[in-house]
Amino acid sequence: MSEKITSQMAIEMEDKYGAHNYHPLPVVLSKGEGVFLWDAEGKRYYDFLSAYSAVNQGHCHPKIIKALVDQAKTLTLTSRAFYNDCLGPYEKYVTSYFGYDKVLPMNTGAEAVETAIKICRKWAYDVKGTPANEAKIIVCGGNFHGRTITIISMSTDPDARGGFGPYTPGFIVIPYNDIPALEKALQDPTVAGFLVEPIQGEAGVYVPEEGFLRKAYDLCKAKNVLFIADEVQTGIARTGKLLACDHEGVRPDMLILGKAISGGVFPVSVVLADDPIMMVIKPGQHGSTFGGNPIAAKVAIAALEVIKEEKLAERAEKLGKIFRDELKKIKSDMIELIRGKGLLNAIVIKPKNGKEAWDVCLKMAELGLLAKPTHQHIIRFAPPLVITEEQLYDAIEIIRKAILSFG
Ligand code: PMP
Repeated sequence: MSEKITSQMAIEMEDKYGAHNYHPLPVVLSKGEGVFLWDAEGKRYYDFLSAYSAVNQGHCHPKIIKALVDQAKTLTLTSRAFYNDCLGPYEKYVTSYFGYDKVLPMNTGAEAVETAIKICRKWAYDVKGTPANEAKIIVCGGNFHGRTITIISMSTDPDARGGFGPYTPGFIVIPYNDIPALEKALQDPTVAGFLVEPIQGEAGVYVPEEGFLRKAYDLCKAKNVLFIADEVQTGIARTGKLLACDHEGVRPDMLILGKAISGGVFPVSVVLADDPIMMVIKPGQHGSTFGGNPIAAKVAIAALEVIKEEKLAERAEKLGKIFRDELKKIKSDMIELIRGKGLLNAIVIKPKNGKEAWDVCLKMAELGLLAKPTHQHIIRFAPPLVITEEQLYDAIEIIRKAILSFG
């Protein structure tokens, strides 16, 4: 196909031939570099979504793209039926990077969450001594862990869950950020794990009270329950530390990562754990054709190197403070609340004259900045972490103008 695709054509084709499982902003992107995206007509935008925090290292980072291209010309996929010369070095690298004995490589965030659930259940039966088929996992209301049947079975979002039953059993839902509720749920001796997002991203960037993660971890330890952190969105420098759990000095028993572990270049996800947990999985009990493939291995190493080389956690910490401070200076009754950590932030929008978060996003797009509402009234702001201070101020000006355009 050599025909030039206009934005109009692209939208019509997606509408006609694609399932309608998303409701995108009407912008058709055709190029990305660093913090910027360009549409099919050449208009430039600041990217303030970063593909849901996957593109933390910036679009088409030269080092990551080089790793991708070099490996793509050499060896792409062997499956795990054989060894390959990229996986071992990657496993060594990623386990020492995050400080765990072992890694189980997968592709998407949802797959890694499923993997963690399987490991947790197996650990309950093989190590903890939970009676067969009785293991339970505590999860939090408002969670987002992906889209598979098991994962939506533990969701409380009617859109994510409604109409897809029957649901997978074995989950206990408690309110987020509620230590007494966790304490109560942990009384059940069949509980094997507590699965939690350190900040609930999809729910609208809900930051729990300081100390929540630490207290939750300690409660889990007291009951021999695995503390499982889903850092698919919060992980890898986004919140101002390498992991969001690092803010409270919590080392999860199982750590789930995805998205930015590849810089948004390739689907790469992992579950990390120490031997007494990970070794419950034996050959044939779990796997994925593409998980741990040579391209993924090389891309992930490059992406993780960029995080350290460019000090992206430190940048997120510093620029995040500026971002929130500057947003707080915008005087508009449309801004109900500003919250976040590092460069994972959100504005809660109070509708005005029938104008909602969606309208603010359309206005920002017109002015050259892309962000997307989550749950109707919340706009998440998560630019690539390579954004400079000057670019950040420029972007804040666009956000200010967009909000103030509604009076
Ligand atoms: N966990 C969390 C915390 C997420 O934010 C997401 C995606 N938004 C997922 C899991 C699922 O990741 P994926 O879309 O790659 O399956």
